[in-house]
Amino acid sequence: MEVIENLSNIRSTLPEGVELVAVSKTKPAQLIEAAYNTGQRAFGENKVQEIVDKHDQLPDDIAWHFIGHLQRNKVKYIAPFVHLIHSVDSLRLAKEINKRAAQNDRTINCLLQVHIADEDSKFGIPPKELLPFIENEAFQGLENICIKGLMGMATFTDNTKQLKKEFGRLSELYKQLQSQSHPRLNLEYLSMGMSGDYKLAIDCGSNMIRLGSTIFGARD
Ligand SMILES: *Cc1c(COP(=O)(O)O)cnc(C)c1O
Repeated sequence: MEVIENLSNIRSTLPEGVELVAVSKTKPAQLIEAAYNTGQRAFGENKVQEIVDKHDQLPDDIAWHFIGHLQRNKVKYIAPFVHLIHSVDSLRLAKEINKRAAQNDRTINCLLQVHIADEDSKFGIPPKELLPFIENEAFQGLENICIKGLMGMATFTDNTKQLKKEFGRLSELYKQLQSQSHPRLNLEYLSMGMSGDYKLAIDCGSNMIRLGSTIFGARD
């Protein structure tokens, strides 16, 4: 099957220490199973209903990554099982995740999504607001979330220079955070790089890449 071949090709080129999240959004459970059978355990989804359905159908030891925009009123559906939420970009969302994590008697690991692209997007914390966000007292009191790192999406372009600039910026922010100690932070992951730009992202310091189409084929 193609998925198996694609995964093994990608894995053979990945440097040690780079975690691969297989982005399975819109793809059927059958393809996820094929990937699972090669040993893949981390899968990424961007819709709440879809990640819930797939979690119900597929093996329990899959680590489900939520990578899309998350509405506060839907956090409760993923709170019991989600492995890592990549897209925390507001205090209100962080508070809701904290509340639902507490109700489920667990800590939910999160990444802060930073807006690095040169594109109008509503999502992501602007780089200069990242430190104030973390230092906010209300944020520091959220004891049932743990910030494991940062996530960013670069501009959709093949301009290498621009991509390097954007990834470089996120990488710098990550390093800055690493040099500080905050009660809510336990940094491990810099999540950047998708099918079109992951090699460059790794060169710029990424240790978690999110690949969909290069593994599963183009989406409709
Ligand atoms: C869809 C998606 C990906 C994967 O995109 P591909 O180009 O198919 O690899 C990665 N990250 C996020 C946040 C996504 O929504």
